[in-house]
Amino acid sequence: MKTIYENIGLQRVVNASGRMTYLGVSTLSDEVAKAAVEGGQNYVVIADLIDKAGELISKHTGAEDSCVTCSASAGIAISMAGLISKGKTSVMYRLPDSSGLKNEVIIQKGHCVDYGAPITTIIRLGGGVPVEVGNANMVHPEEIEEAISENTVCLFYCKSHHCVQKGMVSLEEMISIAHKHDLPLVVDAAAEEDMRKYVAMGADLVVYSGAKALEATTSGFITGRKDLISYCKKQYAGIGRAMKVGKEQIMGLIAAMDRYDNIDHDKVAEENLKTVNALNEQINKIPYCHASLLQDEAGRKIYRSKVTFDKECGMSAYEISDKLKEGNPSIHCRPNQLNLGVMMFDVRPLVKGDSELIVEKLRKIMEEI
Ligand SMILES: *Cc1c(COP(=O)(O)O)cnc(C)c1O
Repeated sequence: MKTIYENIGLQRVVNASGRMTYLGVSTLSDEVAKAAVEGGQNYVVIADLIDKAGELISKHTGAEDSCVTCSASAGIAISMAGLISKGKTSVMYRLPDSSGLKNEVIIQKGHCVDYGAPITTIIRLGGGVPVEVGNANMVHPEEIEEAISENTVCLFYCKSHHCVQKGMVSLEEMISIAHKHDLPLVVDAAAEEDMRKYVAMGADLVVYSGAKALEATTSGFITGRKDLISYCKKQYAGIGRAMKVGKEQIMGLIAAMDRYDNIDHDKVAEENLKTVNALNEQINKIPYCHASLLQDEAGRKIYRSKVTFDKECGMSAYEISDKLKEGNPSIHCRPNQLNLGVMMFDVRPLVKGDSELIVEKLRKIMEEI
């Protein structure tokens, strides 16, 4: 059966890459889709829904309150606007122009990443002025302290595989420096799987993405201190209006958070392993291909298929990856190690029938040599 995207003339995509925004991040479970549809088919007072969503999200994060957003990026921009305006309407209305206000956001150089958009662009969107501290591979705690001035509005920490992992000031230290200077600390935890950890560590605001670990509708949230969250919510009458979050998105997020808490993560890991082993068995029957099992580099219980190719096939891993993407279906592998001649398949995002499509297309490529 054709996908709804093929019906409008687009390629069917097999996402064997990961939770990537450029491929649509994740797919909705039936429960989440149902909640989103029912949410979309009924009316509600939106301010009440935003308050209720905040209360329900906070049950999962352990924070005092939360502000639902349309994405983690919106969460970052709204956090900045909230912290700069501190609930003052006249200040909120002049954002994102924050000239003359306390607007400097201290961020380590190795955290100034591009996750699909530069994080510093998104900080500016909310009126923040990024102050990049240290060098790309080395930041000292005293550099953070020395960067703090009377214009500092907050310290910002990005927790992500995109960041430089060595030589940075730890989150614990950043929190302690922030609090010593009576400043809030904001964590970008967009793709993180632990909804409680950073709140429990003492971060003042933590931002998450809805469609990544949670596999929710396109959404996000800010979770943290009640006073700061109230400043964030207020932004929906200011710059937040351009980042409106729909009732269907909110209901999908709430359902996804309930579902996430009830997931048997060991069972998911077991299924994941079974899928990889079955895929590898089929790939190993294809000429020139050698598939094996690879555990996630960060040691998480995630298994992927790792495929190498005999050089007799006459193609680099990059060329094979390009051929997989060509035509319909367009198959996207995990590209991180193509430079080493290694193709990876992340089976977590696959939908029913995708494994077969991967095997079929890889066989066709190898048999056409
Ligand atoms: C994905 C990501 C974001 C943005 O999340 P969206 O919900 O897509 O806006 C922000 N920061 C990091 C580190 C990310 O990985």
